[in-house]
Amino acid sequence: MSFESLGLAPALVSACAEAGFTEPTTVQAQAIPLALAGHDLMVSSQTGSGKTAAFMLPALHRQLAGSPLRAAGVRILVLTPTRELAQQVSDATRVFGKALGWLKTTTVVGGMPYGAQLKALSRRVDVLVATPGRLLDHVQSGRVNLAEVETLVLDEADRMLDMGFIDDIEAIVAKTPATRQTLLFSATLDGTIAKLASRMMRDPQRIEVAGQKEKHANITQTLLYADDMGHKTRLLDHLLRDTTLGQAIVFTSTKRAADELANDLADQGFSAAALHGDMNQRQRTRTLGMMQRGQVQVLVATDVAARGIDVQGITHVINFDLPMQAEDYTHRIGRTGRAGRDGVAFTLATHAERHKIRTIERYTEQSVPVSTIAGLEPQRAPRPGSDRPSSGPRRSGPGAKPGWKPGFSRDRGASAGAGFRNEPPRPQGERSFSADRPARTWADRPVTAGQTERPRTPRPEGERREFRADGAAAPRRFDSRRKAA
Ligand code: AMP
Repeated sequence: MSFESLGLAPALVSACAEAGFTEPTTVQAQAIPLALAGHDLMVSSQTGSGKTAAFMLPALHRQLAGSPLRAAGVRILVLTPTRELAQQVSDATRVFGKALGWLKTTTVVGGMPYGAQLKALSRRVDVLVATPGRLLDHVQSGRVNLAEVETLVLDEADRMLDMGFIDDIEAIVAKTPATRQTLLFSATLDGTIAKLASRMMRDPQRIEVAGQKEKHANITQTLLYADDMGHKTRLLDHLLRDTTLGQAIVFTSTKRAADELANDLADQGFSAAALHGDMNQRQRTRTLGMMQRGQVQVLVATDVAARGIDVQGITHVINFDLPMQAEDYTHRIGRTGRAGRDGVAFTLATHAERHKIRTIERYTEQSVPVSTIAGLEPQRAPRPGSDRPSSGPRRSGPGAKPGWKPGFSRDRGASAGAGFRNEPPRPQGERSFSADRPARTWADRPVTAGQTERPRTPRPEGERREFRADGAAAPRRFDSRRKAA
């Protein structure tokens, strides 16, 4: 199938060719013709599937007849949950929109100074890509005209709702004309998303591109059990020395853990940087730019900050901490295997976290094969019943795990009451890796500009962790003081 056959104008087909797109992805093939026919769309598609072009190409097609001389006002409005995703959508719009030389694209996101945004909004804006909170500020102070919006896109709508943007979204949408076309993209289309769609869409066509089971077929997923934090750090060290590793994202559950782990990895000679929501936008953009240019090899990130990152050199995703919510697992591993490439995703978990793994597996409708690394096998056996709710983390009182959302235990249905002993044996050792494989020494790599400039959080000597494949790592002292990401 070709882009021409979808009904797109030749200028947009040429822009796709220039971007290196030879044929449409599945979501593009399904969504573009329906969007060109003027339908509202609710699309569930996996991250990295080409969804940006799926909504932006038909939206731009509609603008081809436009001109810079028409009445001022935003024509295409895209709402995204994060600044990084907004920036990516804006970048893609500039690539696809080359044919419309007059088209002005502006990005308005939180965490950035108002000055540049006020200046940009005082000029003509045809395409506005924004995060809801900051856009609402500008709308309420009368700086943005949304009365001319022809296409409204809600990108990663599920995440925007998770982040509590529902009221902001509704207030913004109320300022757009009822005649607009609305295109909603989301990981899931049920529950609150369906309710949102029923309030703001007209007879939407539903497109579900991939069932959960087919998701991420190009990503090899592996679960490694660890006895404790020291064991986890040794596993991480081993994985990062994999000679097939290009770039990696390591996920932690807290901002502080991301900073500390990035510092520790840098101490070990890795080209590592942190990315999390406490960093200002300038630092985040700079770190992402270094990742894009290959100057950072290991990005240690929290979920929200990493959402939407599209760096094609990422070969490995490593879940150092488990995600707070099962759906975040899908978003995390989707940072590798971009644009049809292959990727690998390793998840490190203690046996006590087994019930969380079960919840992820129920959500993805896939099992994550357990494996071991020769020389780094876990020494502890799983506790009988470690799969039961009662043995999970405490949700209140002393020892409660901060930030742990009850979502993991709520839908235990299938395995509630089915303890570990009653389960069929898992394919232990199905794949195994060797700790003896020749390690690439990251310390030998040339030090990049970014490495030397990376802001460091000084820590007392005694709090340093060691990353050695052969010895015990120092315990992480900050564990009990973790702050939610
Ligand atoms: P997205 O899901 O929009 O974030 O896109 C994920 C990645 O796929 C981006 O790097 C896009 O540039 C790339 N991409 C999108 N559509 C195509 C296509 N038709 N052919 C090749 N790569 C694509």
